[in-house]
Amino acid sequence: YYEKYKIRRYGFHGTSHRYVAMKAAEFLGKPLESINLITCHLGNGSSITAIAGGKSMDTSMGFTPLEGVVMGTRSGSLDPAVLLYIMEKENLTPKQMSDLLNKKSGILGLSGISNDMREINDAADKGNHRAKLTLEVLVHSIRRYIGGYMVELGRVDAIVFTAGIGENDWVVREMCMANMENWGFVLDKEKNRTTRGTLTDISLSSSKGKILVVPTNEELMIALETQWVLEGKE
Ligand code: AMP
Repeated sequence: YYEKYKIRRYGFHGTSHRYVAMKAAEFLGKPLESINLITCHLGNGSSITAIAGGKSMDTSMGFTPLEGVVMGTRSGSLDPAVLLYIMEKENLTPKQMSDLLNKKSGILGLSGISNDMREINDAADKGNHRAKLTLEVLVHSIRRYIGGYMVELGRVDAIVFTAGIGENDWVVREMCMANMENWGFVLDKEKNRTTRGTLTDISLSSSKGKILVVPTNEELMIALETQWVLEGKE
């Protein structure tokens, strides 16, 4: 099927991961080729990438953007047998199952409230059980990738948060970075709480690895890549 249908793990959000990796290297004052990063693009669609020496070596989205972490309305990874089971039980067509996985799952499906983290945070603050559970499931799915990529990379110079949730949601960032001291990452909780949408180092000075918030700019990256192609640099 790999040969017949070109089924493979393509990965997505490359433009954003590349942009924030470049910005992170600039901020750290080191050549991109010399650093290892984990970039977390957490928006309505989310993906996490392990970057070794400036090159993506693994990423959470696969053949489609459905694989990986829990997203606004996409399920992210789950046991493929679940799909077969639901399709059989509910007599669903592939199209109906696809709609369920892409448009009605994830944060929306888990919470039953919304696909928007702002509404989930508000509801969780008010004690809504499903909103709290959604937050926990989301963070759990993100931490599994961060942990896995730390092992794959061996050394991680910085963990980067970007996109709608990554840039704005301090609660998600704090939960994602909890208890990572033994792996060399210590969050500055105060700085994390007050940082929104600006390039900021939110780690304590004692932290071996940096934790950065880097606003993405996919439009600028597309323009730059176009320019580089025209100049024969890519
Ligand atoms: P994006 O796809 O990068 O535009 O991200 C959109 C998502 O970011 C929204 O659906 C929200 O879940 C999330 N978001 C945007 N602003 C905030 C905020 N201030 N606090 C928490 N989440 C936010």
